[in-house]
Amino acid sequence: MNSVDFLLTNKYIIYDIQTEIKRLGRPIPDLIISKTDVGKSRIYSRNFNSSVYDRFKWLCGCPKRNKLFCFICVVMGGNQSAWTQEGVCWERKT
Ligand SMILES: [Zn+2]
Repeated sequence: MNSVDFLLTNKYIIYDIQTEIKRLGRPIPDLIISKTDVGKSRIYSRNFNSSVYDRFKWLCGCPKRNKLFCFICVVMGGNQSAWTQEGVCWERKT
């Protein structure tokens, strides 16, 4: 019920169950996001690291979309942005 997928596809019934969703908290799945970039002198491998959930308390993830979202905005209907609509691909240099 608190998954990003549910929240994005059931916008009109969310109001009634907002309290329950807030009680359940944000979904913090371990996403498999990695990307390889070729730099000038070496090849960079960027991987998702679930420690970002600790650093950003509003962050939540969707394993189906493999993207990150702003939990508060997804639940409350904040600004229409990548963080509330299509999700953001987190990248981190390793
Ligand atoms: Zn937000």
